[in-house]
Amino acid sequence: VQNEKDSQYIISNWAKDHYHKLLLESEEGQSIGLSYLRQRGLNQQTIQTFELGYSLDLWDDLLKAAEKAGFERKYLEKTGLAVKKEGEQGQDTGRRYDRFRGRVMFPIHNVAGRTIGFGARTLKANDKTAKYLNSPESDIYHKSDVLYGMYQARQAIRAEETCYLVEGYLDVLSLHQGGIKNVVASSGTSLTESQIRLIARYTDNVTVLYDGDAAGIRASLRGIDLILEGGLNVRVVLFPDGDDPDSYIRKVGDQRFREHLENHSKDFISFKTDLVAREAAQDPVKKAEAIRDVLQSIAKVPDPIKRQVFLQQTSGTFGIDEQVLITEYNKLVKGAV
Ligand code: ATP
Ligand code: MN
Ligand code: MN
Ligand code: MN
Repeated sequence: VQNEKDSQYIISNWAKDHYHKLLLESEEGQSIGLSYLRQRGLNQQTIQTFELGYSLDLWDDLLKAAEKAGFERKYLEKTGLAVKKEGEQGQDTGRRYDRFRGRVMFPIHNVAGRTIGFGARTLKANDKTAKYLNSPESDIYHKSDVLYGMYQARQAIRAEETCYLVEGYLDVLSLHQGGIKNVVASSGTSLTESQIRLIARYTDNVTVLYDGDAAGIRASLRGIDLILEGGLNVRVVLFPDGDDPDSYIRKVGDQRFREHLENHSKDFISFKTDLVAREAAQDPVKKAEAIRDVLQSIAKVPDPIKRQVFLQQTSGTFGIDEQVLITEYNKLVKGAV
């Protein structure tokens, strides 16, 4: 079993180097992949640090190169770099093709820095397939356990005592390049408990920077409860609708982006209060709903002292007598279990 995994690490590492070389040295890689990354504002240093790459727009470039390098084909299949071509009845034809073709390649590293999988972005404006493709699960890649960028972020997370959590690859790259190095992405999955435990190895403080659209806000709300359940402290920063951290830092520059983080960071109670109670301030029914919603989140916090502090804060924010609030909280918690 160990040999099996080692072989998958080795071929993933080799593929990462192959894609990286194609990006920097091949005609197609330079004119299509590299110029795309440049156009998105990424510099040479960032491309090196994250070992970005490019896959040629061919069906068998990686397959051929792997054969030439002496790799057994089965490891390309096991890591999902090659895909089985099925016949009309779904039978194995014995033929294979490259999963990633004509895409910018984002190697996904584990915390030890080993390549375990890839994210890949299409460069075609009207690609019929997905904008992003990811490696499938393998013996070495379990997407729910991994955070993109953690290998490059972990020291900064410790030093800054905060982890910024974003949605996408480009968000990680742009912020890192802008000097905000304590940033990771859940990339293509909704946040998991296991990813929160990974963050908890380095810090107790998470700031969620999701996209400024309805989907981003919904994901923030889900994320908040999960982070609280994990016993971590959570803050949230919203971006203008239509912007994500990548587009916003490109728009306003590093300095104003930092100011935005400082001026618009909210604890989860204020975030929820603002969000739910904005139009509900005048409506007692909606206000009660908003309060119960905040109480539900507080109930996730494992530390009883923190819960008490949050209850006091909620009482102040909503102008509700603390004893009344605690009675309501106790009812809610009993109802929940
Ligand atoms: P870009 O700025 O390159 O257009 P993005 O990162 O802003 O991309 P979003 O649509 O905001 O793209 O998606 C956030 C993240 O979700 C992506 O970075 C990617 O990890 C993941 N994702 C998006 N679309 C897909 C998809 N079709 N399949 C798998 N993962 C996806
Ligand atoms: Mn989005
Ligand atoms: Mn984006
Ligand atoms: Mn986005």
